[in-house]
Amino acid sequence: MIDFSFTENQLMVRDIAREIAVKVIAPNISEFDRAHKMNPEILPAMAKANLLGFCIPEEYGGLGTDYISLGLASEEMEYADTSARVILSVHIGLYSLPILAWANEKQKQKYLTPAAKGEIIGTFGLTEPAAGTDVVGIQTTAVKKGNSYILNGEKMWISLADVADCFLIFAWTDLEKKKQRDHSGISAFIVERDFDGITTGSIHGKLGVRAGNTGFISMQDVEVPSENLIYEEGQGFKIAMFCLDQGRYTVAAGSCGLIKACRDACINYSKERYTFQKPIAEHQLVKQMIANMEAGYEYSTYLWMKAGWLKNQGKRSTKATSLAKWIACREAEESAANAVQVFGAYGYSDEYPVERFYRNAKGASIYEGTREVHTLMQADYVLGNRVDTQLEKDLPVVNQ
Ligand SMILES: Cc1cc2nc3c(=O)[nH]c(=O)nc-3n(C[C@H](O)[C@H](O)[C@H](O)COP(=O)(O)OP(=O)(O)OC[C@H]3O[C@@H](n4cnc5c(N)ncnc54)[C@H](O)[C@@H]3O)c2cc1C
Repeated sequence: MIDFSFTENQLMVRDIAREIAVKVIAPNISEFDRAHKMNPEILPAMAKANLLGFCIPEEYGGLGTDYISLGLASEEMEYADTSARVILSVHIGLYSLPILAWANEKQKQKYLTPAAKGEIIGTFGLTEPAAGTDVVGIQTTAVKKGNSYILNGEKMWISLADVADCFLIFAWTDLEKKKQRDHSGISAFIVERDFDGITTGSIHGKLGVRAGNTGFISMQDVEVPSENLIYEEGQGFKIAMFCLDQGRYTVAAGSCGLIKACRDACINYSKERYTFQKPIAEHQLVKQMIANMEAGYEYSTYLWMKAGWLKNQGKRSTKATSLAKWIACREAEESAANAVQVFGAYGYSDEYPVERFYRNAKGASIYEGTREVHTLMQADYVLGNRVDTQLEKDLPVVNQ
């Protein structure tokens, strides 16, 4: 049976997210975006509403919701601004859910429960100055010394780098395998901001997501207790891919919020702007652009909902999530470009939000797997070069 209706719980969560988006994020987003600053009220507001504990069971201080609710909230957040959705992507998708699936009980108590309650913020450190797509090109090392690992390396383009309290860091524990580029030599660690040898900073001059923090994490002889190793040595690559499965899902759903924001802005503007003595909404080529936004929104929504449905069932969703992310980001980029077009010269100025949508949309085709990566993944699935098997660790099944 296919059921496209949302449950009362899902709608309730969506409405909570919408309220924060409307009351806290939207009113002054232009100012924060222009100033390249994060609105300091967003994280406390999300924590107060329990939105930092999405999909985390109540026993770990979470909201205990399902994945469709997380998708709906991602859409609401990104309708207001991409930077707000990024918080859900990294804190929930790339940090909390992987800890829920892969960490031991002691680690969950220490690093998941406070994250779910919004007492600490987590993020994900995989990318480095010389390695993004090419994960085995990372240079960060973690050398065992007694009951600790000594971490050295540089992480780059990390969302919330200057804000988060804890980082899920990927590093080589097997230096021989590093030379051979064998990903089974990579491990995952939880690293606290307060550990000696950590410095972070923000990247300036970004094209988009300007109201969000993106930065670097530098690690110099950072002593990380062995008990902060997630799961087992050599499982880091697998864990990183698992993280991306969750983060990408929020990017896919969030991109639908961006498409909708483009569509709604164009609906309003095209009815008010006149050329040749009629509203531009009556010109067929303008209608075409708005129709494309609507179509992109609809089919992108179905794709992330399918991935969310699989996640709710505890089924592996890598293929569905990758497809949803690829297509939603592509449609968001096209919708934002067309939104600027519909607004004409006004779209080219920050007097209206569509130029921000355009700048923000670009990033999503780069992070969490570039559009080229997702294109290749989809081809490889159908060509028989790639198959998803059930993972040894996965998210718990949840009720809708
Ligand atoms: C706003 C923002 C936030 C981010 N947040 C985080 C974060 O929180 N944590 C984190 O770890 N990272 C983060 N990233 C980094 C992001 O994940 C990387 O930028 C991404 O993985 C791409 O890596 P790269 O930039 O090094 O590009 P590269 O890997 O150098 O790729 C450059 C180009 O070559 C193409 N390419 C590369 N290899 C292939 C191939 N085999 N076949 C075809 N084409 C190929 C790519 O698609 C791309 O077009 C963020 C990036 C941005 C922009």
